[in-house]
Amino acid sequence: MIISVASGKGGTGKTTVAVGLALSLSEENLVQFLDCDVEEPDAHIFLKPEINQGLTVEVPIPEISEDRCTHCGLCAQFCVYKALAVLKDTVLVFPELCHSCGGCKLICPEQAIHEVGQRVGVAEYGSAGRINFIQGKLDIGQARATPLIRKIKKQINTTNLVVIDSPPGTSCPVVEAVRDSNFTLLVTEPTPFGLNDLKLSVEVLRQLEIPMGVIINRAGLGADSLIEDYCRQEKIPVLMSIPFDREIARAYSQGVALTAVLPTYRAKFKELLWTIKELTR
Ligand code: SF4
Ligand code: SF4
Repeated sequence: MIISVASGKGGTGKTTVAVGLALSLSEENLVQFLDCDVEEPDAHIFLKPEINQGLTVEVPIPEISEDRCTHCGLCAQFCVYKALAVLKDTVLVFPELCHSCGGCKLICPEQAIHEVGQRVGVAEYGSAGRINFIQGKLDIGQARATPLIRKIKKQINTTNLVVIDSPPGTSCPVVEAVRDSNFTLLVTEPTPFGLNDLKLSVEVLRQLEIPMGVIINRAGLGADSLIEDYCRQEKIPVLMSIPFDREIARAYSQGVALTAVLPTYRAKFKELLWTIKELTR
């Protein structure tokens, strides 16, 4: 069972839920936790894993052998991402635009293109109690989160319960993080902005055909019914509400997990797993 935790924007409590879920389920199961929020991985602050391995992650980028290149322009015409520009006497490569598809290398009539590895970040492996912990850290200035997330997800061991902390938003890295999940928990705030972001996330998950449920964080701020009405209309279950609570906020600011400060949530997260199993049956 792979459960991903996502949200339409950052700061909604996605990591609070992912960590709380992993800690609670690890009391009875082997849990694998993947922090795929590679631009800002912060689950480690709460899980405090012991990291015992870090591996550099690279992506292949084209490099041109100028002595073979005839500057015919075919590679630049082929690349829809505009990662290549052929000038009169040189070919420019823009690595930050390259999607590492390898197509330019294949179509070059002069075999003037070969690939070199370019570092995008690091994958770190460790453990926190019964939780097998993996996180991706994108290098500063790097925009290519997707290959790093793909690399981390290759480590998924489905004999465990897998919890994925997805990046916020609805762009490519999110799609990569939640892809192949059995279920996605969408964490939202009860505000008009929260509802707007939730709608966008729902659209993405529907395209991917992933079953979903909603968790309302900071519930009781006054607009809970906005989210509840939308979910009712769209037939999306609201599976949990976490109230707006000073104690929870203080714990979060000190790097303490929700389940440590409010142990009653352990039972709630365990119950949540059973509900998810029922919904995905
Ligand atoms: S397709 Fe090959 S030969 Fe043509 S411009 Fe690109 S690298 Fe040079
Ligand atoms: S590998 Fe693909 S994305 Fe990158 S430059 Fe070549 S054609 Fe463009």
